Amino acid sequence: MTRTGTGCIDRPSPNHGPRPEGARVELLILHYTGMPTADSALTRLCDPEAQVSAHYTVDEDGTVYAHVPEDRRAWHAGLSSWRGRSDVNSRSIGIEIVNPGHEFGYRPFPAVQMAAVADLCLDVMGRHGIAPADVLGHSDIAPARKEDPGELFDWPGLAARGIGLWPDPAAADDSCDSAEDVAALLGRYGYDAAESRALLSFQRHFHPEHLTGEADSETLLRLRALLRMTGR
Ligand SMILES: [Zn+2]
Repeated sequence: MTRTGTGCIDRPSPNHGPRPEGARVELLILHYTGMPTADSALTRLCDPEAQVSAHYTVDEDGTVYAHVPEDRRAWHAGLSSWRGRSDVNSRSIGIEIVNPGHEFGYRPFPAVQMAAVADLCLDVMGRHGIAPADVLGHSDIAPARKEDPGELFDWPGLAARGIGLWPDPAAADDSCDSAEDVAALLGRYGYDAAESRALLSFQRHFHPEHLTGEADSETLLRLRALLRMTGR
């Protein structure tokens, strides 16, 4: 028996399976829907032909739809990895956040939507003991394929509520790591270091005003701060 968040509208999806024996939910993955409308996204997430789903969708007005029970494995992450481990679906909860995305007119996430996302995240984190550092974007775990939830997503606002981390530059230790290249540092934090777009994904999440894919000093400072904050 699995609780879902209070105040959700049930919109069940058939697209899920059992979690592997012994799998623990340890990551919370945030997505945007990337579809022209909320309706088209909800239809697709519940369409057996589409073979995709998430545990929840949060609409732009803050309405939360529950698709898959949290003890089941939803199909949201696809080919992905974090901290050297793939099959993220088996050990995560996935939340879709309604936004047309880069393909259909990417736009800011309304405050009422972000407030509902934050409440839902805190519920999920509390139920499963998910650490703030383990709340990630789809683009963090699949840099080659994904840009969601993207550079307009309010990660700093969520971090202020204990959801995800935001780098505190004061935490960076600039005396170390000079010999380590940025790919190695990204790999230490959790990104797939072999993926050339990992740095761009890092910026999309942690330095969104500097989406260049180049390792400028502020990007490195923020990365080192996060390594220090997580002891990685
Ligand atoms: Zn996604």
